[in-house]
Amino acid sequence: MSIQENLKKIKSSIPEHVKLVAVSKTKPISDLMEAYNAGQRIFGENKIQEMVEKHENMPKDIQWHMIGHVQRNKVKYMASFVSLIHGVDNYKLLSEINKQAKKHNRVIDCLLQIRIATEDSKFGMSFEDASEIIQSEKFSELKNIKVTGVMGMATFTDNEDQIKNEFNRLKFAFDALKGLQSDYCKLETISMGMSGDYQLAIECGSTMIRVGSSIFGTRNYSN
Ligand SMILES: *Cc1c(COP(=O)(O)O)cnc(C)c1O
Repeated sequence: MSIQENLKKIKSSIPEHVKLVAVSKTKPISDLMEAYNAGQRIFGENKIQEMVEKHENMPKDIQWHMIGHVQRNKVKYMASFVSLIHGVDNYKLLSEINKQAKKHNRVIDCLLQIRIATEDSKFGMSFEDASEIIQSEKFSELKNIKVTGVMGMATFTDNEDQIKNEFNRLKFAFDALKGLQSDYCKLETISMGMSGDYQLAIECGSTMIRVGSSIFGTRNYSN
């Protein structure tokens, strides 16, 4: 099936309130343009340099989401245009995003990445760390970022019960953090679910899914 057909099929199978991020990492601009011409406007990349290049060469009404792990010293390259950063997993990074956003006189939306996987859990913060951050005085001073939700990645496994447990954990963290939120953050987004598990993620409360291979086909990392 074509990219256009894949998109149409996915869109018709998800509720209207769920946002679809087309994960286009490693894919050529011609593929992204096919999705763009089919109406897709949100694209997700996991490498800052690749996202910058694609941003420069594509229409300007695209919303670029950074879904990968972010190194602090690279925030400056995307600060002028990135629309949502999914993988924020520490305060220092949040503070750097704030600093770079300020230089461009803008407010950058961020999601706190929560560690939900029992395996493969290199990135993400604990629920306790997240709640401490959003209640802290220093957080309330960051005027150029807005924490709008949470993001999580389930363990890479075939065990559906385990994945479901991990998604439920993120939903639980989201609801608990919502109870603590102040004027400085209005939580509305739960970013969870990829090609293999987005239906399950939506059942567990996801409001934003990040889908790559089901739209663009399998990735070839050797390019
Ligand atoms: C690559 C990637 C995805 C998309 O994965 P698919 O299985 O191709 O849908 C989603 N989220 C993150 C963080 C990724 O790095």
